[in-house]
Amino acid sequence: MQKIHKDSFDGYLRFKETKKFYKLSGREKHLKNVKKNKKIFKKLILNKKNQEFRNCQICKSKVNEVLFIKDGYKHVRCKKCKFVFVNPILKTEVQEKALRKESSYTRVMKNKINVMLDNNRFKYGLQNLNIKKKDKKILDYGTGYGLFLDNAKKFKWKCYANEINTDCIKVLRKKRIIIDKEFQRNFYDAITLWLVFEHVPYPNSLLKKIYKSLKKGGKLLVNVPNINSLSALILKEKCTMFSGHQHVNHFSKNSLEKILKKNNFKIEKTETIISDAGTTINYLNYNDPYLGKSKDDFEFTKPSFIHKNYLGYTLLTIAKK
Ligand SMILES: [Zn+2]
Repeated sequence: MQKIHKDSFDGYLRFKETKKFYKLSGREKHLKNVKKNKKIFKKLILNKKNQEFRNCQICKSKVNEVLFIKDGYKHVRCKKCKFVFVNPILKTEVQEKALRKESSYTRVMKNKINVMLDNNRFKYGLQNLNIKKKDKKILDYGTGYGLFLDNAKKFKWKCYANEINTDCIKVLRKKRIIIDKEFQRNFYDAITLWLVFEHVPYPNSLLKKIYKSLKKGGKLLVNVPNINSLSALILKEKCTMFSGHQHVNHFSKNSLEKILKKNNFKIEKTETIISDAGTTINYLNYNDPYLGKSKDDFEFTKPSFIHKNYLGYTLLTIAKK
């Protein structure tokens, strides 16, 4: 297998300009749709009947302070362990009903340029899992249309999906991917969470199921937005990472490793992927972070510096049972 470098799926680096990357990958259109839908989700969270309050999912503390409110969603920081999360969140049934109508990001996911970048990202993940045995089984939680599993199949993995969206399930069945809703016990050599863990309101209970479902020595791959990424630190609430109706928990390297260890996993490695340097460069040059065309970069916006200091847009962690 040819070695994949993480710069090969970094949209900004491939196109050398955020505006161009956003246009070609369909993200520009998606941003406009997000703006339109903002009002709907704001109205939902402001209605007390739709609200659900949570304790800190890392240390269980009830005491937290508001960092900022974005589109009605309070982003709070635990006073005890500093974990950042959305509180209150939408009740699950309210959120699912509202999101069912939202097909805008699906279009981004199916965009050719994105598929190309995602294929490289997924191959990079498989490379990092580094499991060489025969008859290996993998479960992708929040499978979507199965793009990750398509890649896993090429590398001789037996593929299983855990997905609730009925459209996606139809596609997965056509691809002959097995749907496992039950998390079979001591069964998998690897389980993957690609940009899904940040959506899960109660991450400890999911990790418990995953732990039981892995074989001894089996590996868990987690990819989540990094709240300590350079772009989130600089853009703050302007960063698209903060999307309260969907992203309810915001992990750093520290809090992600902490919650995994708390659930008995051993950390094998953590790194950051996707520099997202372009948005920071735009903003620091007084331009729109997502639609600007600035190219004047800084020493600290060089991808090598970003990743060396865990400042990339998302975290990629491999943990072991
Ligand atoms: Zn806490």
